[in-house]
Amino acid sequence: MTTQLTFVAPRRAKPPRHLADLSMAERRAAIAELGEKPFRADQLSRHYFAKLTGSVADMTDLPAGSRERLAAELLPDLLTPVREIACDDGATRKTLWRLFDGALVESVLMRYPDRVTMCVSSQAGCGMNCPFCATGQAGLTRNLSTAEIVEQVVAGARALNSGQVPGGGVGAKGAGRVGGQGGNRVSNIVFMGMGEPLANYKAVINAVHRLVDPAPEGLGISARHVTVSTVGLVPAIEKLANEGLPVTLAVSLHAPDDELRDTLVPINTRWKVSEVLGAAWNYAATTGRRVSIEYALIRDINDQEWRADLLGRLLKGKLAHVNLIPLNPTPGSKWTASRPKDERAFVHRLESHGVPVTVRDTRGREIDGACGQLAAAPDR
Ligand code: SAH
Repeated sequence: MTTQLTFVAPRRAKPPRHLADLSMAERRAAIAELGEKPFRADQLSRHYFAKLTGSVADMTDLPAGSRERLAAELLPDLLTPVREIACDDGATRKTLWRLFDGALVESVLMRYPDRVTMCVSSQAGCGMNCPFCATGQAGLTRNLSTAEIVEQVVAGARALNSGQVPGGGVGAKGAGRVGGQGGNRVSNIVFMGMGEPLANYKAVINAVHRLVDPAPEGLGISARHVTVSTVGLVPAIEKLANEGLPVTLAVSLHAPDDELRDTLVPINTRWKVSEVLGAAWNYAATTGRRVSIEYALIRDINDQEWRADLLGRLLKGKLAHVNLIPLNPTPGSKWTASRPKDERAFVHRLESHGVPVTVRDTRGREIDGACGQLAAAPDR
């Protein structure tokens, strides 16, 4: 007799299903399956997306008997806060979250007098391996689900709502409401936290729908105030252009020449600068949206004037704007930000080609919450 051992690879558990994973039609179907009236989907959605209700006890328009069950089935806890650190007198807060399976991600909320920007993660870790970015160093753990992305925003909106985030300016009204203008609601979302959003395409697109769909279907944030930042996954940029979602596309270019970009953004060995920019111009033409070209200025690596000239020639006359990011320090990296005089010269060179340029502020740097610093290590 022989015994046969069959190796069964462990199936990776998925995050529990959540209301924010589902479209309105899917919510109604899910609720009907639970033996409840489909209109309960609208009520539940209003609580979650419009009122940002976090507690089942407050959902008094739902029958007491159904409340607990609906919440258990459709509003499971997906994010557990592990640590919160703040700077800028509390107006910038970084939260480290533990997900259902122990994976860790971070999100950052930045409150300004006229707006509130949330920087969200789309993956636990990242597989893109850019050497100057802290997230890339530990590799990819997994993709986040749609609801795990949306919950980061809802958590930020609730924190604003409950007065936990100072810095809204004088006469702050409507605190905590989502969408619209003003520094009292989450008005802007940037997919610039951990992960490569276009490598988790479906969940990210669904999350964008939840963010921009009007309440109570979604949070009602303007699509123009949502920025998806990518290393340059060309087929996914092309797909995004045809989604009918006028989000802002940001391309992490960091070098105008393939020789250097191959080393700074390793996926460049697959899709070259010319292909990435080609996809960006196609995105601009299809959506009418100005593309943001991200360029982290790294001392003596990519900050030479000739590179600014080359970049200026590539971008001249295009629907584009350059966002220069002074390199933020990351552990173990030998690189540092450009000298102020080199940064100024870089800006001037670009401007001489008629290319609009801004230098990004370094909000959150002292709490390792700025661009490229999110590493989700519990001891940092
Ligand atoms: N994976 C996506 C989104 C996350 S990073 C992307 O690469 O676009 C958000 C931005 O921060 C990107 O432009 C990224 O290149 C930049 N970045 C990464 N590390 C950085 C660092 N140490 N200093 C400044 N910017 C950094």
